[in-house]
Amino acid sequence: MKEQLLQLVEVPPVTPDGVHLTLAANISSLKELDAALHNGADGVGLFRTEFLYMDRSRFPTEEEQFETYRAVAQKLKGRTLIIRTLDIGGDKQLDYYELPEEENPFLGFRAIRFSLERKDLFKTQLRAILRASAFGDVRIMYPLITSVDEVREANGVLAEAKKELAYEGIEYRDDVKVGIMIEVPAAVAIADLLAEEASFFSIGTNDLIQFTLAVDRMNEKISHLYEPFHPAILRMIRTVATAAQKRGIPVSVCGEVAGDVNALPIWLGLGIEELSLSAQAILPVKESLLRTKASDSRKLLQGLFRCKTAAEVRALAGQFNAEAA
Ligand code: PEP
Ligand code: MG
Repeated sequence: MKEQLLQLVEVPPVTPDGVHLTLAANISSLKELDAALHNGADGVGLFRTEFLYMDRSRFPTEEEQFETYRAVAQKLKGRTLIIRTLDIGGDKQLDYYELPEEENPFLGFRAIRFSLERKDLFKTQLRAILRASAFGDVRIMYPLITSVDEVREANGVLAEAKKELAYEGIEYRDDVKVGIMIEVPAAVAIADLLAEEASFFSIGTNDLIQFTLAVDRMNEKISHLYEPFHPAILRMIRTVATAAQKRGIPVSVCGEVAGDVNALPIWLGLGIEELSLSAQAILPVKESLLRTKASDSRKLLQGLFRCKTAAEVRALAGQFNAEAA
């Protein structure tokens, strides 16, 4: 089976009725990029930069970050690289920097909140990303956005970083695209407003599911309640896709459920343009994509939205996938 899947590496990710779905990779390091490229990743849709910060005994310098980002961009040979700014906190800690003890770290001092408080560190990272943007199609993505203000404040730091680089005569791409992760219910509710502030959306279903369903994604006691096929999640994703499409910006899905082949008709039915997947999910999803019509997915989606329970959604989506096989 693995051998058979590997034959699909060069095959374009297009449905039988001609709809293209970009299959990019989630990576945390340069090493993980190799596995993703081996499986035919069409770019990187989510570079989780936390690991660059966790793998050492102090904050990485601008130069260290720049070298990694540039190396990834160059290996991608013109394919898109979306670099997510630091998402530390939550389940990810730094040995050398004491984050506050928190009752609810996932709801706490993490991601863009940390970056906006430590603007010095944030600017260092943005400078490194901007410098790498001279070496490929590099884009910036902010995590855990809950308001328009956060996007504007982050963009203010970005503007400062650009100004500094320009003054220093260092090359970067002035029109670098800036997108946001949609992974908090508040961001879904104001997706129409956020779409005016961003070049693209990426739906982080891992966090979006935990916040929408009030289920801690790390708590095994309630893991049975962590349900990607919950009708509420489907509706959240539809709201985001509609807002992005109205504004004409691309929307992708980068959480784990993007790699579930039974979810594929949801993405195709909603007109999602890109999935960002772990390396091992790319080929199974592509295999499914090659035999799943977008027109059939759109029809199925109407049925999925009539389902009242996750079990019904799962059964219908699973049956559809089995019939397409
Ligand atoms: C997500 O929340 O879906 C996501 C992709 O980000 P992370 O898993 O790193 O929080
Ligand atoms: Mg997340």
